[in-house]
Amino acid sequence: MSEIVNIKNVSKTYQKNGQQIMALNSIDLSINKGDFFLVKGASGSGKTTFLLMIGGMLQPSQGDLNVLGMNLNNLSDGEKVKFRADNIGFIFQMFHLIPYLNIRENILINNEVNSSKIGAQELEDLAEELGLSHRLSHYPSELSAGEKQRVALARALIKKPELILADEPTGNLDQGNSQIVLQKLKEYCDNGGTVVMVSHDNHPDTFANELLTIGISETVNQA
Ligand code: ADP
Ligand code: MG
Repeated sequence: MSEIVNIKNVSKTYQKNGQQIMALNSIDLSINKGDFFLVKGASGSGKTTFLLMIGGMLQPSQGDLNVLGMNLNNLSDGEKVKFRADNIGFIFQMFHLIPYLNIRENILINNEVNSSKIGAQELEDLAEELGLSHRLSHYPSELSAGEKQRVALARALIKKPELILADEPTGNLDQGNSQIVLQKLKEYCDNGGTVVMVSHDNHPDTFANELLTIGISETVNQA
């Protein structure tokens, strides 16, 4: 089993209005290729902070983050952009689709940036599987929440990244759409991809093979 994420003694403290807010306190963990790794915690426990650090979008205050053989602390901003473009797919609770692009263009956006060739058939097949075939020429504002999240899922999957980072991807969905998203992420792991998903503390965890629960760090220090 090959390890693709290794986190050693990682902490994150934010400075805000002269206060120090401890968002994450000394996290150690290891994630293997093929894992569906679920991090659960209450609102404010540092879940988004954790994902942003794995994606190289936020610097830890302390500790080492090794992702896909790279120590993220050693990468320049430009190298981090390339690291993300090459390796990471993101799915967010609020979908983050581009409002002025249609659904087809939203799904393909990362691939166009990477200039890799995606066959039209591959897009059609994925859209069909996710029940989006009739929506490809529509715009995000015309879609339901469940459809928007299926578009965000298709956008992440079609890129075929080593690692998908998902921040409460079922937070705004009904049960049927939640199941579709979770099932598809699970399938991605079964085929050798890796998912790190964060969600609220009472989220079902039956589909995950690894689970970490984080608590709210009590330290809010007056500087
Ligand atoms: P979660 O995703 O679990 O709700 P977050 O990672 O968003 O938690 O936040 C963890 C803690 O850090 C919270 O107390 C939050 O208010 C604080 N926090 C998050 N981002 C910032 C920021 N940019 N500046 C200051 N405090 C922040
Ligand atoms: Mg969050």
